[in-house]
Amino acid sequence: MIVMKFGGSSVESAEALQRVAAIIASHNRRQPVVFVSAMGKTTNRLLEIASLAASGERSAALDKIAELRAFHFEHARLVCPDRELDALRTFLDDHFQELETLVKGLAAVGELTPRSTDAVSSFGERMSSYILALALRSAGLDAVHVDAREVMITDERHGEAAPLMGPTEERMREVVAPLVSEGAIPVMGGFIASTRKGVTSTLGRGGSDYSASLGAALLGAEEVQIWTDVDGVMTADPSIAPDAHRIRVMSFAEAAELAYFGARVLHPSTMAPAVDKDIPIRVLNSRRPEVEGTLIVAESLASGTVVKSIAYKEHITVVDIRSTRMLMAHGFLARIFEVFEKHATSVDMVTTSEVSVSLTVDRTDRLDAIVEELNAVAEVDRRNGRAIVCVVGEGIRKTPGVSAKIFSALGEIPVSMISLGASRLNVSFVVEENDLDETVRRLHATFFSEVDPQIFA
Ligand code: ADP
Ligand code: ASP
Ligand code: MG
Repeated sequence: MIVMKFGGSSVESAEALQRVAAIIASHNRRQPVVFVSAMGKTTNRLLEIASLAASGERSAALDKIAELRAFHFEHARLVCPDRELDALRTFLDDHFQELETLVKGLAAVGELTPRSTDAVSSFGERMSSYILALALRSAGLDAVHVDAREVMITDERHGEAAPLMGPTEERMREVVAPLVSEGAIPVMGGFIASTRKGVTSTLGRGGSDYSASLGAALLGAEEVQIWTDVDGVMTADPSIAPDAHRIRVMSFAEAAELAYFGARVLHPSTMAPAVDKDIPIRVLNSRRPEVEGTLIVAESLASGTVVKSIAYKEHITVVDIRSTRMLMAHGFLARIFEVFEKHATSVDMVTTSEVSVSLTVDRTDRLDAIVEELNAVAEVDRRNGRAIVCVVGEGIRKTPGVSAKIFSALGEIPVSMISLGASRLNVSFVVEENDLDETVRRLHATFFSEVDPQIFA
């Protein structure tokens, strides 16, 4: 059995859906279980609709729902078997009816909670999974749509819920495994789930990758394939560094580090289930299925290669905290982190000096409240518009001089918060967002002007 996950751009149109059907057909002998993201930019659209409604723009929200309906119907009908057209119409009518009711409710109360946001954003995957199953049946495959909310069970932290392994494993075994044994192809939405009480939840943005690897681990699959819109994991985001190389093989640890520091191609939680059960992950391009992609395994090939890739995370805020009393006084750091914890804001990077602590956050919705509390014990400054840049590779551990090479490449670009991760797989630092593209390009030119053909393509 293998698990195949297709991202939003892989199913953005009827043509893309047909391409995906052909890819799945070519793997049919390996008993595929399929996870799929919302079509194209649907999740963004749904979130826009929710916030329009909650801010009182009811008719703008309803107009956007109509657009989304037209988009789904336009593409779905082209991949739908004739005998199922009526069922498709009913399915979409019911779903858009339910969405409209929800959104009217949001407009009436004028408030958006994480729970109602999950309810709205779940529609993308609920529809795309149904539609992909239609496309597979049109292609002659025995595909069965499964509502992932019946299978993926999470805690109640809406917006970024954590799967509950016991109940999810049980549902996988009861609902999904028998379909595979019968020779059918189960098709589920990634990202969406429900709580034990049956309330819709989601795993957080980009979470379909995590759904897929978790599904693979719980079903005992032999491989996870993440199909996306680039050739694999690349030496840098190809949208910034067009000459980026495909990485042929990398380790789970390297991929986890890259994902954590922003390389959007994999959700940061994707690697953990694969590590647990030692399941290889392949990252592949649904537009160029003939390309080998990237293989992620426990240990990458031994090689002289030091750096594997450069990741970045934009829209970061740096918070500088200076103690008004004695900084490193006993318990000071604990007190600072308590405040962030209390406001459910996670911190990515931390550097300290004798008189100050700097840390980075990417969510700023609670930052005013955080700063207000910290002001009781410290002076606090914040710097918006920053980016974290992270150079990743297992060779960094063993190779002196990597940092020197990084900082001489950066020249006059101002850098702060330099840190060598405890795993010693990465060197990361903060730059101004305006300098980000130039930073990535200079580093890419420094580390990847010549590459080992065994590791990179
Ligand atoms: P999907 O919808 O398939 O999940 P995403 O948009 O989430 O796709 O992730 C794919 C995108 O990740 C690529 O289009 C690319 O711009 C971006 N990306 C960032 N860093 C990297 C990297 N190191 N290698 C490949 N892609 C990257
Ligand atoms: N559709 C969701 C998102 O856009 C999940 C995913 O694509 O992985 O965040
Ligand atoms: Mg993604």
